[in-house]
Amino acid sequence: MEKILVSACFLGQRVRYDAQVNYLLDNHFNRWQTEGRFVSICPEVSGGLSTPRDPAEIIPLSHTIITVKKHDVTAEFTRGAQHALNLCLKENIHYALLKEYSPSCGSEFVYDGTFSNKTAAGQGVTTKLLSEHGIKVFSEQNIEELALCLMHSE
Ligand code: SF4
Repeated sequence: MEKILVSACFLGQRVRYDAQVNYLLDNHFNRWQTEGRFVSICPEVSGGLSTPRDPAEIIPLSHTIITVKKHDVTAEFTRGAQHALNLCLKENIHYALLKEYSPSCGSEFVYDGTFSNKTAAGQGVTTKLLSEHGIKVFSEQNIEELALCLMHSE
């Protein structure tokens, strides 16, 4: 049975920057949870950031991650991404289901680095590292595609 790396916030853990609960409600998700497929991580907390924390965005071109108060948290984000990759390698995980728009977990879109609530095409730091190592990353917006991949791989 394929395991799935999931964003810890999807499981209702209070790890978001604003400490709010963000449980993912979806039939596939519920089934996979019941089957015991999930291995969870919040890369930002794993990388050393606290909850709640200041929102951060990826600054295009510079490839740094900066908080709204201009604090550079690139090292923490990078460390968290490495922890997520280590977990995938240790648990032989080939699929991840991560939260869209997050500067760590986004897979197609992230906030654009201007802190004005605008999004742009792009990947979060963790998604980028996992993808570079052959792990397929999906978000809550393409969960059906993950279900199809699992169906064909088992
Ligand atoms: Fe959720 Fe990922 Fe943000 Fe952690 S870093 S709160 S797991 S979206």
